[in-house]
Amino acid sequence: MTAVPSTAAFVDRHIGARATETDAMLKAVGYDTLDNLVDTAVPAAIRQDAPLVLNAAQSEQETVAALRKIAAKNKTAVQMIGQGYYDTHTPPVILRNVVEDPAWYTAYTPYQPEISQGRLEALLNFQTMVQDLTALPVANASLLDEATAVAEAVLLMRRSNKAKSEGKIVLDADALPQTIAIVKGRAKALGFEVEVADLAAGLPDGEITGVVLQQPGVSGAVRDQSALIAEAKERGALVTVAADLLALTLLTPPGEQGADIAVGSVQRFGVPLFFGGPHAAYMAVRKGLERSLPGRLVGVSKDSAGTPAYRLALQTREQHIRREKATSNICTAQALLAIVASMYAVYHGPEGLKAIALRAHGHARALATALSNAGIELVSDTFFDTVTARVPGRAADVVAAAEAKGINLRLVDADTVGVSADETTTDAVIADVAAAFGAEAAEAAGFELPAELLRTSDFMTHPVFSSYRSETQMLRYLRRLSDRDLALDRTMIPLGSCTMKLNATAEMQAMTWPEFASIHPFAPDSQTEGWRELIEDLEAQLATITGYDQVSIQPNAGSQGELAGLLAIRGYHHSRGEEQRNICLIPASAHGTNAASAVLAGMKVVVVGTAGDGAIDHADLRAKIDAHRENLAAIMITYPSTHGVYDDDVRDVCDAVHEAGGQVYIDGANLNALVGLAQPGEFGGDVSHLNLHKTFCIPHGGGGPGVGPVAAKAHLAPFMPGNAAAWDGGDDIPISASRFGSAGVLPISWAYVRLMGGDGLTAATKSALLAANYVAARLNDYFPVLYTGKGGLVAHECILDLRELTAKTGVTAEDVAKRLVDYGFHAPTLSFPVAGTLMVEPTESEDQGEIDRFIDAMIAIRAEIDQVAAGDFPVEESPLRNAPHTATVAAGNEWTRPYPREQAVFPLKTLRMDKYFPPVGRIDGAAGDRNLVCSCPPIEDFEN
Ligand SMILES: *Cc1c(COP(=O)(O)O)cnc(C)c1O
Repeated sequence: MTAVPSTAAFVDRHIGARATETDAMLKAVGYDTLDNLVDTAVPAAIRQDAPLVLNAAQSEQETVAALRKIAAKNKTAVQMIGQGYYDTHTPPVILRNVVEDPAWYTAYTPYQPEISQGRLEALLNFQTMVQDLTALPVANASLLDEATAVAEAVLLMRRSNKAKSEGKIVLDADALPQTIAIVKGRAKALGFEVEVADLAAGLPDGEITGVVLQQPGVSGAVRDQSALIAEAKERGALVTVAADLLALTLLTPPGEQGADIAVGSVQRFGVPLFFGGPHAAYMAVRKGLERSLPGRLVGVSKDSAGTPAYRLALQTREQHIRREKATSNICTAQALLAIVASMYAVYHGPEGLKAIALRAHGHARALATALSNAGIELVSDTFFDTVTARVPGRAADVVAAAEAKGINLRLVDADTVGVSADETTTDAVIADVAAAFGAEAAEAAGFELPAELLRTSDFMTHPVFSSYRSETQMLRYLRRLSDRDLALDRTMIPLGSCTMKLNATAEMQAMTWPEFASIHPFAPDSQTEGWRELIEDLEAQLATITGYDQVSIQPNAGSQGELAGLLAIRGYHHSRGEEQRNICLIPASAHGTNAASAVLAGMKVVVVGTAGDGAIDHADLRAKIDAHRENLAAIMITYPSTHGVYDDDVRDVCDAVHEAGGQVYIDGANLNALVGLAQPGEFGGDVSHLNLHKTFCIPHGGGGPGVGPVAAKAHLAPFMPGNAAAWDGGDDIPISASRFGSAGVLPISWAYVRLMGGDGLTAATKSALLAANYVAARLNDYFPVLYTGKGGLVAHECILDLRELTAKTGVTAEDVAKRLVDYGFHAPTLSFPVAGTLMVEPTESEDQGEIDRFIDAMIAIRAEIDQVAAGDFPVEESPLRNAPHTATVAAGNEWTRPYPREQAVFPLKTLRMDKYFPPVGRIDGAAGDRNLVCSCPPIEDFEN
């Protein structure tokens, strides 16, 4: 018998380099085996003793089959629970060509705007839609979820309302329960007062900093809030309205009622329920608050030819610049989901959205009519889509009767049931719901929204919201935008600290299956067995990988994992009666989110200096520990450091902090350098966050979604995030609106671990080290590598130092980043963690050919810098400063530049077949910040 030949293992699809390439790269670095290189690079002191043991690697077919089995353990239902989550139809053209299209989902946050005009336009559409619907002039391009958006609004009100800074925050009792929990949790950490009050009865007494209203309330009640808002403002408070955007197509918007801030979820604009996330939230503010707005903001500026161009505005507010003084810790947000919502609005237009709203409202009215005909009392006769009914003693029976018909209702309490209609609701479903109450279906009669609550103003009048109504138009619009961008489907994205690796199709497939995508976060446990099994399994695998005892996948970004971990540390110190421990040591080189998160956890940041070799300055560390010994809460260290090097003595650092009574937070965003080789939970960490959207293959989505699990040792387990919807104010402060955060994207990471197995994951780490060291070795003569560890090796990324070249020639790291676009590349990380440098992280997924293409581009760019040095052209007129070059410029009749057109756009012969032309030239960021425009510009602006 001949053996059946085995097919290629997935690990060989995930890792880019073939065996011969690995050998060639090793040779270039000066090693004969991968293990020798790894043994030299990774300090023995932190190496894990035993190999990583997980499941055995499985094929793509086996993994997808296993996911099918798990999915089958979830039960789909008609979801009418509401409470902030509503069923919706994702238009198939958007599902396939955005959610399932790598051109959209593999893009990075648009920090390099010239190669991001497509997604920036989509996000600007999002902002314009939110501004119009809320009637407030400035909206950001997404927050993480509604509850945390309200928390951000509360913090914004506290920052901005200097006159009433000592007052309390008043929350509408009809706000979503998870919102109330998240705000109270933040208040607990920061020590401010929150009062939950029935605002239908008016404002409570006392000094008030800010008020949060919900429109419609969780009960469904729609109220005229203008008088309340006026009274609050009269008393010096700021006002936030958490509003449902679909309802605002019918209702007077918060901006017209005098609100300062509006926030909410845009989930029901075509984003699946996903068992609670990922969904985009929005925030819009009145004029004067825009510079305090958290999150990303897209603005309009001009490029070098004067053409309007989009870019991220006001970045100076963000945590990577302002650190502990930032407006928020949010970095990764929900870009992909915001894009889906914006495209839903583009597809339906203002009339379409209004029709969808009227349909949901009509079905709610029909149900209300049926129930009141049957003598059932309603909590409010004025509602949009949600009817809450009083059925004394029989609420559970009603919910059970509906469930028997495949319909989920909201069990409010023993006497009360909530029913939310949505876009997908049908007459038949309403009849079944009525029957569950023991009522008979009826035509809607009465329950109209009162005239004084109705919206009279137009919205979404920009042509973008009326130009793409046929599917062909929509398809081409999506394609046109994505073609303007460089994502991983076209080129490596060598962004240090971001780990832009393969997002394999087999990993991506399951997330849009209805058994995962259509599950409501508050569906009964009996319907979510598969989800919980997958989550428990993933958490267990992550615990094994990191060496921690407990993992929670609730945080929906790295920043949120940081906050969760620091809150756990805070809770731990408090539980031991050490409330005074509030100092958080953070190295100067840390990611900006670290400092911003520490502040949100109620801690004071003390910066620890960096030594000449890039490691922590131990003398400074000792001094700071001694100075703050009594009050030391924690140190936050990134490992390997943001300098891309394995610190030899990380154990000593951890010991010193522990000895002083502090806890050690290890930022695990760089886990791609550790998996299978070393475990933060073993070499000194008490708690870490990981970024599944880096190391574990969740695509970056152009700026989100993300998952930032928090992993901790057993002594911190009681302080891990609890369930916001059921939180009792205990030590388990919840961090996200929904219990399992961005559950919808977890099948991706689950599949990755399953496909790779322990050996495969370890092999990936080793290949990532090799790729980074290969880049470092090949480019060191052209751009010196700033920091190296043992044997002159780096970890999974390397910093190329441009500063000396800049001093000599005037060519900046930014010039090199922009020039790379002409070579078809996304730039490396620019000026982080060291100004004037580029940080390169190739990841294990790139093959040697692609890495060489990048190296060749960098070497060619170095030659151009030498041309500047040699006086061939002044830096201001060099191809570097003029980069990137558009087709318009290159093909224009005028060409007066001191270098040939061919050098401008085809600096390497290999570019001839596959040339990427950026749609705009270099964008003037500062001009856009001075003259802030954050909504879609009129079409005429583009006609010059
Ligand atoms: C990416 C990153 C973060 C933040 O993660 P987000 O998901 O963007 O919030 C924190 N620390 C480090 C070192 C990172 O690289």
